[in-house]
Amino acid sequence: MSEVKMNLSFPLDDDGFFRRKCPFCHKEFKILLEKDELANIVQKEIDSFMIKQEEGVDLDDSACSETEFTCPYCGQRAPGDNWWTQEQLAYIGIVIKNIMAKMINVDLIRPFKETFGKPTLGVVSMRFKGKALEQQEPWISPEVNDMEVFDLPCCQRKAKIEDNWMNVVYCFFCGFPYKVV
Ligand SMILES: [Zn+2]
Ligand SMILES: [Zn+2]
Repeated sequence: MSEVKMNLSFPLDDDGFFRRKCPFCHKEFKILLEKDELANIVQKEIDSFMIKQEEGVDLDDSACSETEFTCPYCGQRAPGDNWWTQEQLAYIGIVIKNIMAKMINVDLIRPFKETFGKPTLGVVSMRFKGKALEQQEPWISPEVNDMEVFDLPCCQRKAKIEDNWMNVVYCFFCGFPYKVV
């Protein structure tokens, strides 16, 4: 199978924070990612999707010993690929569809047209009417500058949480609980 490289960029807010959503309490927060961290998360999501498509089975998750993260609000833990918002997932879905359309167009439809598209002597001319699959422009709304910065000195990282959150805040990276005063 040919390898298709895709560029996709996720919107960050003006301070460079990336939106995440808890799979348990469904509250949203943001984290400040380090260089390449976002690219790695996205690449992993696309890879795992492609492998699932190909093999039709779930990957052996235990083999890659997934790092877990903690929800700042409810403190529950989940692996890194559980924190997408609906919109981010829809966006990745379109990008993946584009990758597949491109592969089908390049690997399947084009050679087929080249083979059967030309009339050859002695052979009844065949026309292939298959249309190349269209690419859909992925779109995601720009990130808004909401929420308040919350320092996580435990990991020397930063997060953004809801303005009026008055409860314990857990570190997304290590789970350390902070009392909000
Ligand atoms: Zn939560
Ligand atoms: Zn921490």
